[in-house]
Amino acid sequence: QNPDKTKLLEAYELTGKLYQYILKNTEQGKQAMQYLRSRGLNDKLIETFGIGYAPAPWDTLSQLLERRQFPLPLMEKGGLLSVRQDGQGYFDKFRDRIIFPIHDWKGRLIAFGGRAMGDAQPKYLNSPESMLFHKSRSLYNIHLARPQIRKKQQIVLFEGYMDVIKAWDTGVINGVATMGTALTEEHAEVIRKQADQVIVAYDGDSAGQNAAYKSIPILEKAGCLVKIAVLPNSQDPDEYITTNGSERFVRDVIEAAVPSIKYKLIHFRKNFKLQEDGDKLRYIQQALKVIADIPSPVEREHYVRELSTEFRLTFEAALQDLNEIRLQSE
Ligand code: ATP
Ligand code: MN
Ligand code: MN
Ligand code: MN
Repeated sequence: QNPDKTKLLEAYELTGKLYQYILKNTEQGKQAMQYLRSRGLNDKLIETFGIGYAPAPWDTLSQLLERRQFPLPLMEKGGLLSVRQDGQGYFDKFRDRIIFPIHDWKGRLIAFGGRAMGDAQPKYLNSPESMLFHKSRSLYNIHLARPQIRKKQQIVLFEGYMDVIKAWDTGVINGVATMGTALTEEHAEVIRKQADQVIVAYDGDSAGQNAAYKSIPILEKAGCLVKIAVLPNSQDPDEYITTNGSERFVRDVIEAAVPSIKYKLIHFRKNFKLQEDGDKLRYIQQALKVIADIPSPVEREHYVRELSTEFRLTFEAALQDLNEIRLQSE
């Protein structure tokens, strides 16, 4: 194996331990610990996820790495240090941030996500792309979630660190996160290798819901069976769990996830004023277009029947329109 890679892995491992130690055992870590408490994380969760704290000074880590004779240019390339503006030496990349370690599926520490506690920008600072960390295929928590993902043949896909951790606490231990990057085809391939079914549980705000909508064709192309968990009131899973508790999260969000087709029908519905005839007809046409793409005739019939019941159409008329749409798209 590439010696630089080995060295960088060793450095991440050491740094992760340092940040955990500072969080748990030092005066510097007290405020960070309070912050984590205020977000509902107990000692057990902090331990399980290896959460740490990178202190405010500019040289805590750089001093340690230098003492231990790690090659500093490599440490910079790997995203642990930054180059000083005058070009003379290095300083710590993560300062005064909560540290979420990111692992590969084998459990090797390959990157960090660092959250500011106050209003410092950016809210999250993640390690850059490196010889260890490839954002387009990394999934946060894949190493801990993998056994349950394989056993259940189901994976739950979140946006962020806190969602994964709070969901874990409710018993949803097959959750991973894309960490803010849009889901890629590579992510979908990784997911498909572990499980048949995916539940997309993105934030309930419009950004999250649009991202969920876009994830459907990517996941389906990789061969996954896709369901979408819909969060009310623009909440994210972390906020939902804090307000409504574990049982409701599992029952009303995760177990209530809807098949992708159904979600598509719900998703663009809010763009139409269904009490107005013109919009109603346009919605029905849109809905029929979505239904026309369903490969299974039985499933198509099911949704045509639902649509015709809701809008008081005869089943035959709806089916006739559907068949015309199918002919046009051939
Ligand atoms: P919190 O609950 O701590 O406020 P969140 O997970 O709800 O965080 P979101 O704004 O919903 O935060 O973003 C989802 C995820 O996207 C984050 O967990 C993080 O992985 C990533 N992310 C958010 N903002 C940034 C950023 N500025 N740079 C890089 N990644 C980011
Ligand atoms: Mn979000
Ligand atoms: Mn969020
Ligand atoms: Mn959140």
